[in-house]
Amino acid sequence: MTDPTILGPTIPGKKYDAFTDLSEFIQAHDLHFEMYNTKTRTIEEFHPITPQTVGLYTCGPTVYKDAHIGNLRTYISEDILKKALMLYGYTVKHVMNITDVGHLTDDADEGDDKMERSAKELGLDAWHLAKIYFDKFRQDFESLNCMDPTLWASAAGHIPEQIRIIQGLEEKGFTYTTADGVYFDTAKFPQYAQFGQLDVENLQGGARVALSDEKHSVTDFALWKFSRPDERRQMEWDSPWGKGFPGWHLECSALSLKYLGERLDIHAGGTDHIKVHHTNEIAQSESFLGHPWCNYWFHAEFLVLQGNVKMSKSSDNFLTVTSLKKEGYDPLDYRYFCLNANYAKQLTFSWEAMDAARTSYQRLKKRMLELKKSAQGARGSWNDAYLLAFFTPIFHDLNVSKSLGVLWNLLKDEAVSDADKYATALIFDELLTLGLKDLKEERKELPQEVLDLIQERDGARKNKDYAASDRLRDALVALGYTVKDTKEGTQVE
Ligand code: AMP
Ligand code: ZN
Repeated sequence: MTDPTILGPTIPGKKYDAFTDLSEFIQAHDLHFEMYNTKTRTIEEFHPITPQTVGLYTCGPTVYKDAHIGNLRTYISEDILKKALMLYGYTVKHVMNITDVGHLTDDADEGDDKMERSAKELGLDAWHLAKIYFDKFRQDFESLNCMDPTLWASAAGHIPEQIRIIQGLEEKGFTYTTADGVYFDTAKFPQYAQFGQLDVENLQGGARVALSDEKHSVTDFALWKFSRPDERRQMEWDSPWGKGFPGWHLECSALSLKYLGERLDIHAGGTDHIKVHHTNEIAQSESFLGHPWCNYWFHAEFLVLQGNVKMSKSSDNFLTVTSLKKEGYDPLDYRYFCLNANYAKQLTFSWEAMDAARTSYQRLKKRMLELKKSAQGARGSWNDAYLLAFFTPIFHDLNVSKSLGVLWNLLKDEAVSDADKYATALIFDELLTLGLKDLKEERKELPQEVLDLIQERDGARKNKDYAASDRLRDALVALGYTVKDTKEGTQVE
């Protein structure tokens, strides 16, 4: 019997409704799926290894802390990639890992394991900590309308798979052992610097002093770290080399190979992963397999704060979905905010920009509700020209902000009937997933303070005390409401 309070090795994703079949439309317009590939630094036409099917691997969360909205921007960008592939007609098999062991505080394989450190600080054990933060992550992920992967897979649940890769690498002579672990010898993989366009000589020079005497090169990385003799780790396993835990990069190779096969279509993550994590994944996977591994690499740019400050889990500047909600935002206001920017460009967060996104998103929902009412259940059909205008930028490297503009043009176009507008916008929303389909008239519960002001104002108006009525109107406006005078009395929005 598995313990429900700890993570299992795999968690199947939810099932979703099928997308609208656009195949005839795509064929008729000869649309191709193109995306920027970090591997070649160009926009390329996408060709899957197996027709109609895409293997997609996305680097997932390290579950020692809440995800911040920067992390979540990356997942939203990946979500759009996945939905665009599905709308293009592909069946996407998507695996996302859960890092619950081995992610050290320092990229150079030094420092503490983030999970173990956080567990100690919180007085929890690392196994339960992983489950708590994975559940929280999943809630945030869902609240942003991100689609579950086909499978979530945890690093700690796949130790034998990771050990087998190290053994394979060892047999082929790609490893060496030091006092603190088993390392990948990057000098044995001559194309190591290619993917990240690394200047290895400079890296070596900069690190000469810090380089531990046993590590041959600054780019070498741990495949297996030994538990320190003076320390009893919560997460550690026996291995042919000694008790310890896997290096962080290894889980992504192991999980991808196990669930998506020896050749992968697309691997995705944040841009920070290009130079170390993904470079190392490529080195170990291709050395183990003896052939090229992944065809397309998708990297999403960062969310930054004003002054180009990076949001990161290790500093205190991070905002979460919960903090947005506390400030009165709907998580989907944040999705709308992200979709308004290109995934390949940094996006600067500010509350003013969030407010602007919220206002536009509220207008969009209001307009969709009006259309729904005015279409009165009439079944519209999609407008081909707008569909083309919307999907052309999507299938050309996911230019969602341009397509959002097309949605607004559609909504304003008087030549298109309301029923057709509504039907077309709902197809757009299969990609955007801003919840435009199931909108309901919002009947906001007004706070007591506001109800009292309304009552007082209606009394003042009845008594023709216009000075008091104006003063009370101002008080309502100051609270952020728009005030309307109707036959029934004061109404606020
Ligand atoms: P982590 O949970 O720290 O392993 O990170 C999860 C994902 O978030 C990775 O794909 C990172 O590249 C990405 N990421 C980290 N910081 C940011 C940021 N400020 N903006 C966007 N993505 C980020
Ligand atoms: Zn990864």
